[in-house]
Amino acid sequence: MAYDFDLYVIGAGSGGVRAARFAAGFGAKVAVAESRYLGGTCVNVGCVPKKLLVYGAHFAEDFEQSSGFGWTPGEAKFDWATLIANKDREINRLNGIYRNLLVNSGVTLHEGHARIVDPNTVEINGERYTAKNILIATGGWPQIPEIPGHEHAISSNQAFFLKELPKRVVVVGGGYIAVEFAGIFHGLGAETTLLYRGELFLRGFDGSVRKHLQEELTKRGMNLQFNSDIERIDKQSDGSLKVTLKDGRELEADCVFYATGRRPMLDNLGLENTGVKLDKKGFIEVDEQYQTADPSILALGDVIGRVQLTPVALAEGMAVARRLFKPEQYRPVDYKMIPTAVFSLPNIGTVGLSEEEAREAGHEVQIFESRFRPMKLTLTDCQERTLMKLVVDAKTDKVLGCHMVGPDAGEIIQGLAIALKAGATKRDFDETIGVHPTAAEEFVTMRTPVNA
Ligand code: FAD
Ligand code: NDP
Repeated sequence: MAYDFDLYVIGAGSGGVRAARFAAGFGAKVAVAESRYLGGTCVNVGCVPKKLLVYGAHFAEDFEQSSGFGWTPGEAKFDWATLIANKDREINRLNGIYRNLLVNSGVTLHEGHARIVDPNTVEINGERYTAKNILIATGGWPQIPEIPGHEHAISSNQAFFLKELPKRVVVVGGGYIAVEFAGIFHGLGAETTLLYRGELFLRGFDGSVRKHLQEELTKRGMNLQFNSDIERIDKQSDGSLKVTLKDGRELEADCVFYATGRRPMLDNLGLENTGVKLDKKGFIEVDEQYQTADPSILALGDVIGRVQLTPVALAEGMAVARRLFKPEQYRPVDYKMIPTAVFSLPNIGTVGLSEEEAREAGHEVQIFESRFRPMKLTLTDCQERTLMKLVVDAKTDKVLGCHMVGPDAGEIIQGLAIALKAGATKRDFDETIGVHPTAAEEFVTMRTPVNA
């Protein structure tokens, strides 16, 4: 049967665009549908605008610390509307780049909501198109628990477009988004409370990292409330919000921001017309080659709920394009040693196993840990400390994990990830000459295990 397209991609986000462009580059006839914004979550309401806001928030401490270096900065004033307008302009520019990337690589772009009507047919804007394969790359959507008053809360989707910076913000959750946005609001001058239901935020990260960040955020004056959860939110006559906690405590806020995870975006996608199956958490179930239970349909990225990170969606997109149209170049995505950063202030950078994971996996571990005051702060009053930690297999000497909390941790961890992926041992680290004077050199100068 002749199809309109070899591949119909639903969703022009990180994974969908990568798969579409590369498939077209391999000679396939490709269409991509996008209902909201080119570039998807990362470009529009994720990584990119988030990082711009983090940069914005960071200036507060730069102004403060500059006096130690002889500067007398004028009175620093912050204007939220300017930051948001400039951010929007940059995102518009990126949307245009994504459009050009797609069109120039020969992909047909359909702007609208796509719905699958049978395993080889997609309907969009009242038209139907057939395709040998359909790729679902529809991403995720913020999930807010339906507590009384949840309609007064916002998610990251709205936070990027607030008309003004709220004076008092309660951020709910203990994952990436909660920690990053708490840092943004706090850095920009809002009175910020971070509320997490468990003992300590960032479950799954290395214990030392979690504790260190807790200490640093507390030093900065952020109000951290652990073992706390919201019972209800009530709007008051003056427009402010009364937040009642499950233990009866009450907080006043101008904005309640929920960052309690993301669900797969499957709304009105027509999955009932296919054989696609969902896993226990509701994400699309795929095999190791991104094949769903329906032979003509594949899925990748956040909608499969594996590792919800842009570079992972990109790698999956590349793998799908190769698998379908360049099988001789196909290589499976390696989900081990994925480096990641939390752009909190200070940043977290991490790759490989946490100490807890290494022990659970049965490794006998040697732990190297260093906490120090970064050189940049020695002329200032700032008491922030940086943490660096290596988790090493005592038997093989292999470095199993690198963890950092401190300025530029995200930048530093990328290079270390290459070393770990290549199987670096602690001896390799020791024999690597440092770059002096940097904070990063500490990773190659830690000599004595703290658990010796
Ligand atoms: P998406 O990028 O979400 O793209 C899906 C696209 O499909 C969307 O454009 C959507 O409009 C479209 N779509 C959905 N349904 C339909 C339909 N029926 N028809 C047509 N189009 C449809 N990751 C990092 O690596 N680093 C970070 O710093 C980072 N920061 C983040 C910050 C925030 C606030 C958030 C929310 C996420 C962040 N992420 C970050 C995660 C990252 O954004 C995602 O992992 C990544 O965007 C997933 O890509 P994707 O292709 O699976 O989906
Ligand atoms: P996460 O899954 O990272 O964290 C969700 C948090 O919300 C957890 O602390 C969880 O607690 C808590 N939670 C879940 N349900 C409830 C509930 N009903 N009531 C109270 N608390 C709840 O999700 P995020 O929304 O922060 O981010 C989504 C994903 O996006 C991340 O996992 C990450 O993959 C990606 N991302 C990546 C970034 C980066 O690379 N820098 C930045 C931002 C997002 P508990 O731990 O107890 O389950």
